[in-house]
Amino acid sequence: MQIELAENSGFCFGVKRAINIAIKTGQNHTGKVVTLGPIIHNPQMVSKLKESGIDFVDDIDQITKDMTVIIRSHGITIEEYNNLKRKRAKIVDATCPMVKKVQNYAKEFTNKGYQLIIIGEKEHPEVKGIIGHVDNNAIVIQDEYEKINLANNKKLGVIAQTTQPIERFQKIIYRLVPLCEELHIINTICGATSIRQKATKSLAQDSDVMIIIGGKNSANTTNLADICRKLGTRTYHIETAKEIQKEWFVDVEKVGLSAGASTPQWIINQVYQKIKNIDNTENDNKALS
Ligand code: SF4
Repeated sequence: MQIELAENSGFCFGVKRAINIAIKTGQNHTGKVVTLGPIIHNPQMVSKLKESGIDFVDDIDQITKDMTVIIRSHGITIEEYNNLKRKRAKIVDATCPMVKKVQNYAKEFTNKGYQLIIIGEKEHPEVKGIIGHVDNNAIVIQDEYEKINLANNKKLGVIAQTTQPIERFQKIIYRLVPLCEELHIINTICGATSIRQKATKSLAQDSDVMIIIGGKNSANTTNLADICRKLGTRTYHIETAKEIQKEWFVDVEKVGLSAGASTPQWIINQVYQKIKNIDNTENDNKALS
């Protein structure tokens, strides 16, 4: 059985940067170091950081002035930032620079009188953070079939959550065209996302089974699994090697592996090794029979 890993699988630049900032902050700061929300959407990496003393809190009310707070890669709202300052906690900002760029585009559109449209997941922290930079004055469109209600349809300014699939972005733009007089689009889908989606799509077209590795709460990993399923390839989204079942590989010639931008390399290696071991055992059994 051939096992192939999609190119560019695993940590993107923004996630690597956020993890490095967290580790360095943990080493260099005395007192309690926490992240506001999980630093990335990968429960295994978050647990590892917890073991090294960097926990996360869900609520700003849990933060006290003796703490150092790391802002996660998805960013936060201006209100949350001001609340942290009021609490006099030390702030270390690990927001991905690409996400900051999107926050700035959102402000620019709003300041110029455009109705801001964000194509993305309403409940995702990145989207909530962006909305929080424009006083909640944004319409979020989550999928291509959703009803679109426009308060101001003269000038629309459109951006995307950085991890959206390009096909969804295009389909929603297509629907917006007849609804407005002026449409200004900035494709804010991150290059790291597009590259992973392209490589995964190409591998899925050529594989019998796809294994997508990463947090079940990770938007970019879930999107990778959706892309493979839409192609009709049998696809499993797993977080760790423990979830793998040997029945998945019966009569399979090629397995494709891909991992989201927040999946650590050690988990990818464990998954690869487990599938390899299943294949070796199968071959040994065939040789003996
Ligand atoms: S996927 Fe892109 S925007 Fe998101 S953290 Fe990685 S580099 Fe930043």
